[in-house]
Amino acid sequence: MTLYPKLILEALSKVRYPGSGKNLVEAGMIEDDMRIEGNKVSFSILFEKPNDPFIKSVVKAAETAILTFVSPDVDIKGNIQVKSRQLQRPEPEKLLPQVKNIIAVSSGKGGVGKSTVAANLAVALAQQGYRVGLLDADIFGPSVPKMFGMEEARPMLERIEGRDLIVPEEKYGVKILSIGFFVNKESAIVWRGGMASNALKQLIGDAAWGELDYFLIDLPPGTSDIHLTLVQTLAVTGAIVVSTPQEVALADARKGVDMFTNDKVNVPVLGLIENMAWFTPAELPQNRYYIFGKEGGKRLAEEMNIPLLGQIPIVQSICEGGDNGVPVALNGDSITGQAFREVAERVVQAVDERNRNLDPTERVHVEKKPLPKK
Ligand code: ADP
Repeated sequence: MTLYPKLILEALSKVRYPGSGKNLVEAGMIEDDMRIEGNKVSFSILFEKPNDPFIKSVVKAAETAILTFVSPDVDIKGNIQVKSRQLQRPEPEKLLPQVKNIIAVSSGKGGVGKSTVAANLAVALAQQGYRVGLLDADIFGPSVPKMFGMEEARPMLERIEGRDLIVPEEKYGVKILSIGFFVNKESAIVWRGGMASNALKQLIGDAAWGELDYFLIDLPPGTSDIHLTLVQTLAVTGAIVVSTPQEVALADARKGVDMFTNDKVNVPVLGLIENMAWFTPAELPQNRYYIFGKEGGKRLAEEMNIPLLGQIPIVQSICEGGDNGVPVALNGDSITGQAFREVAERVVQAVDERNRNLDPTERVHVEKKPLPKK
């Protein structure tokens, strides 16, 4: 058997790259480094992103095409290298090595209920038996201490393996740190970006978070250099965007999604949560009033091709729970508690899917499900 590059390329032109619909040769994905020695063929396939979800299937299809259309005797298995145009995000310096999944909770606009969702999601995950941490990184309005009824908390330092580490507070099964534990609201507001980023890095890297299944970060609203620092220092598994169905909120949510998915940041968006989706008065439980517009979040999710992780109605108890320090997710039997439980389940699922799509060599976080608490 005499092999020529042209034969191999012909076979590869029968493999379609699902991302663009073009064949591998046409899409310019076959690198110029093909080597043929006897039966052995090796070359590289170039992908745009290092975490392209089609890497595995494309490599497999390329091998099969060569074995089918050239000859079953070609030695190709394991000889195809994968390259990416975009550099892989720098491997974060093993911050939080014991944390399996890091989830950033963000919103385009303030006041849409991002912290409420983050707090209740954390509680709902803890209720399902996961080990959960919550970092309130919303330095411009740290509201997690209030939502957990722990405004007086002052975390302690503990010497662990020669380092002084901040010990997160723990409530309702969630380990919590907030910038609000260390400064009063007035002084946090005047912090410059750099100071804030440094403080956050400390709350992440110099704290005894221990082993966690899910580490949620309640980000400040909008897009700022704090977001960039965080996603660059941490291997964020994915981001959740919270929005109300209102047009102005949606426009900002779209910017948020764009920020995460842009080439520099490159954090997958796990999905969108539509908060304040409708209002149902207690005396008319069948009625839904779409105060901020109907299903705007659902439409945005469809349009941006991201999952809708849930729709949370406007309910007085959610607001009261936040003010009283007793998140509604604690009561899994209530309608609101149930809503957050479902959101938590979908988040777990979205993270699972995300982890499965990654090539094993690139998988930073390995998902292992603990037994749910009974
Ligand atoms: P953000 O973090 O986006 O600024 P918050 O979570 O602080 O927003 O929520 C703003 C206010 O809206 C809070 O008073 C909160 O209790 C209330 N709120 C949020 N979501 C709901 C909801 N689904 N139903 C009722 N009140 C809500």
